[in-house]
Amino acid sequence: MISHKELFLLNNAQTSTSPNMLEVERAAGMYLYDKSGKAYMDLVSGFAVSNIGHRHPKVLEAIRAQLDKYLHLTVYGEFVQSPMVLFAQKLISVLPEQLNNVYFVNSGTEATEGALKLAKRYTGRSGIISCHHAYHGSTHGALSVMGNEYFKQKYRPLLPDVSFMTFGKEDDLSLISTSTACVIMETVQGEAGIRVASAEYMEKLRARCTATGTLLILDEIQAAFGRTGKLFAFEHYGIVPDILLLAKALGGGMPIGAFIANREVMGVLKENPILGHITTFGGHPVSSVAGLASLNVILEEELVKDVDAKGSLFRSLLVHPLIREVRGIGLMMCIQLDSFEQVERVSKLCAADGVVIDWFLHCETALRIAPPLIITEEEIKKASAVILKALDALS
Ligand code: PLP
Repeated sequence: MISHKELFLLNNAQTSTSPNMLEVERAAGMYLYDKSGKAYMDLVSGFAVSNIGHRHPKVLEAIRAQLDKYLHLTVYGEFVQSPMVLFAQKLISVLPEQLNNVYFVNSGTEATEGALKLAKRYTGRSGIISCHHAYHGSTHGALSVMGNEYFKQKYRPLLPDVSFMTFGKEDDLSLISTSTACVIMETVQGEAGIRVASAEYMEKLRARCTATGTLLILDEIQAAFGRTGKLFAFEHYGIVPDILLLAKALGGGMPIGAFIANREVMGVLKENPILGHITTFGGHPVSSVAGLASLNVILEEELVKDVDAKGSLFRSLLVHPLIREVRGIGLMMCIQLDSFEQVERVSKLCAADGVVIDWFLHCETALRIAPPLIITEEEIKKASAVILKALDALS
C-alpha cells in the first residue's frame, strides 16, 4: 500500500526539495507524536502559532461549543456574528485606545494586504517603505514588501513605489517623506534571524512617521501574544502603531488574521467605493471563538509573566564553541552558527533525539527557538542538552 509520505510527495504541491517529512499523528501541549508514538518537543510552535501549546482544552471547548451553533454564515461585515464581535472587543480591551477597530481576515499575508490598501486609501499616497530582510507574507502585495530579491525576482512586476531601508538604521529614516503612505515593519524582525532594534530607533521611527503623516504599520504576526515577553512587542518601546498586524498565535491554532487601526482610519473602507476590502471567511466563527479562548488563556494563566526568565535560562544553557551568538527577545530567539550545513545537521540530530527545531527564511545559518510559552524549566534544560549534544557531534 502506498504510504502517506509517498502520497504527500505525489499529490500535495511541494514548495521545497527537502521537506521535513515528520508525520505527526497527534499533538498536545509542548509535544508532537509520530505514528510510532514517539514524542517530539516542539521548539518551533508551528512557526510562532502554538503560544499556548497544542490543543489547549479551553480552545477545544470553545470550538466544540461553536460547532453546535453555526459555521460559516456570510461574507465579512454583514451579519452580526457574536464570536467575531466578542473577540474584537477583547482584543481592543488589551490594546492602546487608538487601536480600536478590528478587521478580521484569514491569514498574515491578508492582514498585510489589507493594511497596505488601507494606508494608501487613507493617506491618498502611494509610497510604501519596507525593510531589507523583511517578511510580511507571500501574496503579491506582501511579496512586494519582502526584503529579499531572491524570493521576488521571478514574480515581477510587483507593486510600484516600494522602497527599502535597513532595519534599525537611523540614517535611513530620512527616506520617509510626505509622499510615503506607510512604513511597514516587523516590530522584531523574525525571518531575518530575529533582529531587535533599539528603543531610540523605534521612537525616532514613530516620530518621523507622525511628522510626515505616514502611517506606521507594525507587523506582529510572529511577535505578538507574549512571545517577546510583552503581550505585544511594541510595548517594549512605548510607541503605538497606526495599524497593527496579527495572525499566527491569534487563533490559538485556528486560521485567522487581523489588521487593527483607529476607527477613523478604518472608516475609509466603507464608502466611495464601498467594500474597500472583501473577504468571505475573514473572522470565521470557529477561529474567532478559538482566538478569544486562547487570548483568555494567555491572560488568565499569566503566560507572559515568565517568558523573559525562560528566554534567559535558554541563553545561560546554550553555551558551546560552535555557537556564535544567541539572539532575540523573550522566547523569540535564535542560535547563530556558521553555516547552513551545521544548521541542517543539528536539526536532524535534534529530531532523532525528539526535539523539533528549524531555521529562517532569510537566515539559514541560525536555528529557531520559538517554543510554546508553556515550556517548563525542566523542558528548557532537556531541549538545551539535546541541542548541545547535537553540536558536540559536529565538533
Ligand atoms: N508577517 C510575518 C512577520 C510572518 O512571520 C509571517 C509568516 O511567517 C507572515 C507575515 C505571513 O503570515 P501567513 O503565513 O499567515 O500569511
